[in-house]
Amino acid sequence: MATSTAKKKSAVQYDCSKCPGYCCSYPLIEVGKRDIARLAKHFDITYTQAESRYTRYDRSEKVRSLKQQDDKHFGSICKLFDTKKRCCTVYEARPGVCRAYPDGKRCGYYDFLTFEREQQGDDKFIATTNNN
Ligand code: SF4
Ligand code: SF4
Repeated sequence: MATSTAKKKSAVQYDCSKCPGYCCSYPLIEVGKRDIARLAKHFDITYTQAESRYTRYDRSEKVRSLKQQDDKHFGSICKLFDTKKRCCTVYEARPGVCRAYPDGKRCGYYDFLTFEREQQGDDKFIATTNNN
C-alpha cells in the first residue's frame, strides 16, 4: 500500500509515490495481533494503547480493522495515512495486509489512475472510483 518512495522492484508496474492512496481508503483493513504489536513497538506504546488508538472492532464483519480519518478525496482513509503528503506514516511498521497488496506486478487502481491522467492530460489528476 501507499509508500513515500517508488517500488524498488523494476518489474513492478505501479508507483505508490504517484498515487493518492486508493488502497488505503478501503473501509475495512483487517489487522491481527502481530500487526498491532508491530504498531505498538513502532510508536513505543503498549499493545492496548495501539489497539485502541489505531484500530476498531467491526461488529458486522467480526474483524478488527484500522481506524479511519476524514479525507477530501475519498471521504475517509486509514488513520495512519498522511493526507497531505499522500503516503503511509508507518510504512516500515504497516500491517501484513498492506504489505501483501496488490499481490502482483500490477495495481488495478494505478492502471485506472494512469488512464484517467492521460485522458485529462494532467499528471496530478486524482480520479475517484465508484467505491469512493
Ligand atoms: S492503490 Fe496501488 S499504486 Fe496506489 S498506493 Fe495502493 S498499491 Fe500503491
Ligand atoms: S497502515 Fe499505511 S499502508 Fe496500511 S492502510 Fe494505513 S496508511 Fe495505508
